[in-house]
Amino acid sequence: MSRTSGASTNRTRYAIALGSNRRHGRYGAPADVLRAAITAMADAGLTMEACAPILHSVAIGPGGRGFANSAAIVSAPLDPPALLAALKRIERAFGRRRGQRWGARVIDLDIVLWSGGRWPAGPRRAAAGRLAVPHIQMRRRDFVLIPLARIAAEWREPWNGRSVRQLLGQSGRRYL
Ligand code: AMP
Repeated sequence: MSRTSGASTNRTRYAIALGSNRRHGRYGAPADVLRAAITAMADAGLTMEACAPILHSVAIGPGGRGFANSAAIVSAPLDPPALLAALKRIERAFGRRRGQRWGARVIDLDIVLWSGGRWPAGPRRAAAGRLAVPHIQMRRRDFVLIPLARIAAEWREPWNGRSVRQLLGQSGRRYL
């Protein structure tokens, strides 16, 4: 995938993490699933500002399959819950079933960062299992940080103001 020349807008910007570790009957291998998901996001009305190269990484947990991962910067006139709903519609259209965690998953689309800082806003934390932005695991996952650093290395998380590049330096390459 490559950086797109999509017009930058003053709408809300998001960093999205993409992952797949299962072939799709129509789209093919996990890397092709990611490319199809990028197309699906654009078709859903998200403005694609940049797409990272695809990274192939080892599996976490008992699923036993390698992942293809990437990241994208998108903009859209949506708040985080509305964007999450749009991403979940795409996951369902790709055949993702609820409740799958570390097993085979055809596509996983997570909101990593957004231009509005934290969601939910203010001191209150998201309840367990509810939407939280930044994604709570992002700083520990090289398979998120490595692709993201290719397109948004200087984007700073709102917890402590560390850039994606700095988070990657601190992550200790736990999963690669
Ligand atoms: P998963 O199965 O790993 O994709 O987890 C999906 C669930 O995690 C969603 O139903 C969300 O409510 C929750 N979640 C919490 N934070 C995020 C986030 N930043 N992006 C996507 N899903 C999130």
